[in-house]
Amino acid sequence: MVASRFPLVPVLALAAIVLMTACRTIPPPAPHNPPAPPPPLPQAPLPPSATMTLRDYLKQQLGPGFHVRAEWAGTDPAYRPQPYRYRVWAPIGVVRVVTIHHAEMHVWTDTAAMIRAIFRDHTREDGRLDAADVGYHFLVDEAGQVWEGRDAGRVGTHVGSHPPGQNNPGNLGICGLGSFLWEEPPRVMVERIVTLTALIARYYGRPLIVRGHRDWGGIHGAPIGGTSCPGKLERAVVLAEEKMRETYPPGGVAAGGIATSGASVGGAAGVGPARVSTTPASIWD
Ligand SMILES: [Zn+2]
Repeated sequence: MVASRFPLVPVLALAAIVLMTACRTIPPPAPHNPPAPPPPLPQAPLPPSATMTLRDYLKQQLGPGFHVRAEWAGTDPAYRPQPYRYRVWAPIGVVRVVTIHHAEMHVWTDTAAMIRAIFRDHTREDGRLDAADVGYHFLVDEAGQVWEGRDAGRVGTHVGSHPPGQNNPGNLGICGLGSFLWEEPPRVMVERIVTLTALIARYYGRPLIVRGHRDWGGIHGAPIGGTSCPGKLERAVVLAEEKMRETYPPGGVAAGGIATSGASVGGAAGVGPARVSTTPASIWD
């Protein structure tokens, strides 16, 4: 019998050893211009559950890279939202836009202290802003850490708040912590803002318009371009728009029946606020 003279198991083991030895001699393929890895997310992106708030979803997705408000505001009553100081403390409405800013201030080594300084600036009672809280909903530091600002369920005071205007309903504000008029923003900050914007869109289940602050009209009386913000952080606007278009291809229809054509996802430059659906009558009166 052939089988008894050449037992099958030893023959297969020998073949496996020969094969493994041969595999080790084959060099791995050379990488083809490998891009630098993005900052890793601690968990794979998951769709949000029906009962999750945006804060909970970002905490889940960004893990220790997301800092809740208490991490910079602590328990000091001076850093609580103060709705009575500003007439705009209304629900944000249907979120359709994300606007990117830079803080236009030098970076502090203590990020929490830096955010408290921004809070004091925005809530200062001098007739300039007199805001109820820090104007932005999220702030991203040079290490790509995301910090929670104003409650994402409340309308912000980050665009057109000088003077108060119609630009903030449905508009989440993200601020890069630094001054990028002349300096390039850190790559990790840009990438994390893009990720944050994509996660926000995923949470709401629809494409969002992405803008830089200067893409809005009515700022300092200018029809458009009344500010230089966000400076070179405009790079994050461009990349976030690209990612939005990849996720929601033009011509498709996303959840909720919102068309994902260029008209709704669209480029930032030259886009006036008329394309943003707001509900000013119920919020600003
Ligand atoms: Zn700005």
